[in-house]
Amino acid sequence: MAGCLFCGIVGGKIPAHLVYQDDRVVAFRDINPQAPVHILIIPRKHVAGVLDIAPEDHGLIGAIFKVAATLAREQGIADTGFRVVVNSGSDAGQSVSHLHYHLIGGRRMKWPPG
Ligand code: AMP
Repeated sequence: MAGCLFCGIVGGKIPAHLVYQDDRVVAFRDINPQAPVHILIIPRKHVAGVLDIAPEDHGLIGAIFKVAATLAREQGIADTGFRVVVNSGSDAGQSVSHLHYHLIGGRRMKWPPG
């Protein structure tokens, strides 16, 4: 979608440190990491956020979680633990309107999140 930052990364117009890509999903390092491992996993297709996931996207969401598990193993955080987080809306701090899953790990985390 024109003007969308993450569509720009998917299209190769905006540089990013890609760690995974296939025909449906792209993953890249967060530019402002909050932990030793902080990767964003996104659909190639523009979906604005959780509220915009359509029934035909359900397989895509499963594929994203499969990528999260694969990357957690590859990045060495599968055994120590990790989070897969989606922020939705202003109270949660969503700043980019293209659905993205934060894969965060490599340090001890607190609960509840701030
Ligand atoms: P959220 O606040 O949940 O919408 O997450 C957006 C995330 O995108 C933040 O963690 C940002 O640090 C990250 N981010 C913003 N611009 C870029 C970029 N150009 N490359 C990689 N990550 C980015």
